[in-house]
Amino acid sequence: MNALLKWLFKIPRLARLLETHQKNEAYLELAFLAYQNSSEAIAVVSAQHTIVAVNPAFEKITGYAESELIGKQTQILNSGHTSPAFYELLWEEISTTGSWRGEMRIKRKNGEDFPAWSAVTAVKDERGEVSLYIVQSMDFSEKKDAENMLWRQANYDSLTGLPNGRLCREWFRHEMLDCLYSGTRLALIGIDLDNFRDVNDAHGYEGGNVLLREAARRISGCIRDIDIAAREAADEFGIILTEIIDVHQVQTTARQLQTLLSEPYDLGSGIVHITASMGITICPDDGADEETLWRNAEHALYTAKEAGKNQVRFFTPAMEALARRRLFLINDMRKAIALQQFELVYQPIAELSSGEIHKAESLLRWHHPTDGIILPAEFIPIAEETGMIIALSNWSFEQVAVQVADWQKRFYPEFQISFNMSAMEFLTDPENSQDRVALMRENGIHGRGIVVEITESMLLQSEVNVNDRLQDFHQAGMEIALDDFGTGYSSLSYLKTFDVDYLKIDQSFVMDMENDSRNMALIEAIIVMGHKLGMKIIAEGVSNEAQMKLLAEAGCDYGQGYLFSEPVSRDQFERLLQEKKPAKKM
Ligand code: C2E
Ligand code: CA
Ligand code: CA
Repeated sequence: MNALLKWLFKIPRLARLLETHQKNEAYLELAFLAYQNSSEAIAVVSAQHTIVAVNPAFEKITGYAESELIGKQTQILNSGHTSPAFYELLWEEISTTGSWRGEMRIKRKNGEDFPAWSAVTAVKDERGEVSLYIVQSMDFSEKKDAENMLWRQANYDSLTGLPNGRLCREWFRHEMLDCLYSGTRLALIGIDLDNFRDVNDAHGYEGGNVLLREAARRISGCIRDIDIAAREAADEFGIILTEIIDVHQVQTTARQLQTLLSEPYDLGSGIVHITASMGITICPDDGADEETLWRNAEHALYTAKEAGKNQVRFFTPAMEALARRRLFLINDMRKAIALQQFELVYQPIAELSSGEIHKAESLLRWHHPTDGIILPAEFIPIAEETGMIIALSNWSFEQVAVQVADWQKRFYPEFQISFNMSAMEFLTDPENSQDRVALMRENGIHGRGIVVEITESMLLQSEVNVNDRLQDFHQAGMEIALDDFGTGYSSLSYLKTFDVDYLKIDQSFVMDMENDSRNMALIEAIIVMGHKLGMKIIAEGVSNEAQMKLLAEAGCDYGQGYLFSEPVSRDQFERLLQEKKPAKKM
């Protein structure tokens, strides 16, 4: 205000008025000047709500000339988009409190609306009766535009231009209510790009971004105008298909998406291929509340991933039961190590030429207090997913290291125990090979007694230098076995690249080798090839004499399976060794 006064002082007449102490007059002039020059739209309204005067800003903002407004009721400015109840409440508040402040919409002469920040003040006469109202309004549209931009930033993904997860949820809520009221159906599809991380690793973030933008474009192009596609997270998308008449329609869209997304992507730095996994839930068939349906889609997506990726899965109640079981196990697993609920059992590995047992594989069992024995097939994936595999594996390794030293002393100096190592350990804790070697050294245990079993998928990991890790083990005297051979990528070049001591032929080949000549031929080929590369061969899942005989004849070195023994406790295994009963004579 000071600056304004200084400026006004330059106007000679005003200055004179102020100097001669004719302040009232001066202030009146000032008020009028302010009224005339204000950027705020000001209207003077009678007690009966007719417009008495408006300032030039009011004319400019509304597009009306003063003469067109004087004598008119204020309704002329009411927006058609605002309910009459709003204005009723507004006048009611003014009559009780004397003023009102807030956002209202005002109609311009050309019929369009604009948002205005307004203040309405009642002016009372000497008797306390309302004589006039002063309405001050500021055009808010530009600020609204800025607000809209902020809103866009908060609700849209800047990379792909798709709505983000937040907005998708909000729309889903509306669509779901719509669908429930109208008796139609809707589908929620969760999409996750498989192995997207590899793209980022190989082509950098820029490459990854190009792929995501293109994927978003393909997804948007595959749905109707009434459907919604959103980017939920880094490589996750969500789709809401509305007004579904036939569930087959959802299946068709999902298949189309799968095909489209798996087409090659040109990233500039190279062409890449990627697949997508999808989980689908239908409202109201699978649920009628927001949380349930999102969870369903997640469960279905998880199942699709677990099934080997590049899959589409519809939600089933069984998935929910599985997910509940998963949560239950995750929760209990946290304390299971401390509560000593894990046990290692041992399965003999017999030398086929002599029937002698100088090796065993250690296998985990979880003795759950209420659910009995839980097998690794169920808890290892959960341990991997939650990172608990590290603690669990460290625990197992210590047990095995101590156990093998003991058995070497008591039974056979060259005794070996195989230890299963999870791919996840390699990824998240690549240094652990060194820790383990150190642990053995501290306990005076020689590595010779331990065979580390790894799977082919581990050899594929680009993030860690697998050969270095394997070398750590070798340097400590340990040996390496390639587990489940024949089920993974089975790229023969791996066998050449990596230093492996044993090949374990997967039990699926052994299972009916005596009846299936093709499996028999494969086994024979693996044995010859392994031997040529200087490896020893172990056949898994040997369950009858016929298999054992055929394997021995084919030159297989070792056999493991129910024929010799199931995995047994430490005590039972010791009894087995004490009996010195060479598993089975040939
Ligand atoms: P794997 O390493 O291939 O272990 C062999 C599995 O085959 C064991 O199942 C064993 O009980 C089973 N088996 C042995 N002989 C026969 C047979 O004659 N017929 C049939 N049908 N099966 C037989 P298990 O103990 O349930 O373990 C399953 C998988 O869990 C293991 O497969 C391994 O990948 C994993 N696992 C087990 N213990 C550990 C562990 O301590 N750490 C890690 N990372 N994984 C483990
Ligand atoms: Ca194994
Ligand atoms: Ca195996």
